[in-house]
Amino acid sequence: MKDSFNRSINYVRIGVTDRCNLRCFYCMPKEGVPYEPSAHLLSYEEITRLLNVLGNLGFNKVRFTGGEPFLRKDFMTLLEKTYTLDQYPDIRITTNGTLMTKQIPKLKEMGITKLNLSLDSLDAKRFKKITRRDDFDKVMSTFYTLLKEGFKLKINAVVMNDINTEDIIPLVGLAKQYPVSVRFIEEMPFNGGYKKNKTVFKATDIYNTIIKKYPDFHKKEGKHGDTATSYRIDGFLGDVGIIPAFSRTFCNTCNRLRITAKGDIKSCLYDSGVFNIRDFMRSGVTDKELTEKFVELVKLKPENGFVAEKMKNTKHDHLESMSVIGG
Ligand code: SAM
Ligand code: SF4
Repeated sequence: MKDSFNRSINYVRIGVTDRCNLRCFYCMPKEGVPYEPSAHLLSYEEITRLLNVLGNLGFNKVRFTGGEPFLRKDFMTLLEKTYTLDQYPDIRITTNGTLMTKQIPKLKEMGITKLNLSLDSLDAKRFKKITRRDDFDKVMSTFYTLLKEGFKLKINAVVMNDINTEDIIPLVGLAKQYPVSVRFIEEMPFNGGYKKNKTVFKATDIYNTIIKKYPDFHKKEGKHGDTATSYRIDGFLGDVGIIPAFSRTFCNTCNRLRITAKGDIKSCLYDSGVFNIRDFMRSGVTDKELTEKFVELVKLKPENGFVAEKMKNTKHDHLESMSVIGG
């Protein structure tokens, strides 16, 4: 399906919960965010209905995120139902890796073997400072188990000035040793009110840090819709990506639509939610009406994240939390 800027939109990211067991400070304040009651969240039946409608409109890529998706009690049921839809050959998940090892056999059975694992530091103390929880060993153990089980992993690391820039080179080292994609993400201003962002450690700063250590840091050919610019280094088993999430230089090939846990459609990460699809569905609409609504919403997708931000009804981005947006 095309938007008004002739971009093909085929990728839906669904926040399945706003809850989380970690408190990464770039995402949530230490006291957490006010959680929605479960009845306000899209049920797994509603999510699979939406996926079916979107699949019939040409969507073929889905990612479940949150909050922490594995905190949701019926998350595995949602995966099982999604697995039965033939429009989505690849189901992807973004997770903090603290609660999921028991589900690995079931995930493999469903062919769900592509995961994004968040890991901002290889130093246990810094990990604890960033996430405000003492789960470093658990996440590392998940990492090794997933590798052993043959999962294709992307490691997501948010890079923050004065916090974890010294982790960049050790994290790049993971791609040297293992066939993983290590992706560095610029910090976005969605931390649920903890603080205003300091100066952002930009994609160019990340690039300059890496190339100083690895002069043979070569750009790879990207796929359409990639938010990360990918690089390889000779002799490495994996690769490295840099995601200019704050600088927003990838918007001209954006192929995404986001649905938050309570059903707000976000046609851009930087908009404030353009429509609530949960209330629309609960008013008893038909699949045809849902389809027409999505066609209309995709047409409203703004040209880029700066335009979306300008249209927003609040100037206080940092009061929003990525766990509510569905990162
Ligand atoms: N809890 C899961 C996790 O941490 O992987 C999934 C949800 S989390 C919101 C999804 C991704 O968003 C994570 O990789 C996280 O690092 C990233 N993220 C959260 N807040 C961010 C921010 N302010 N700027 C950039 N990335 C952010
Ligand atoms: Fe939780 Fe993920 Fe947000 Fe960290 S980034 S607080 S793990 S939702």
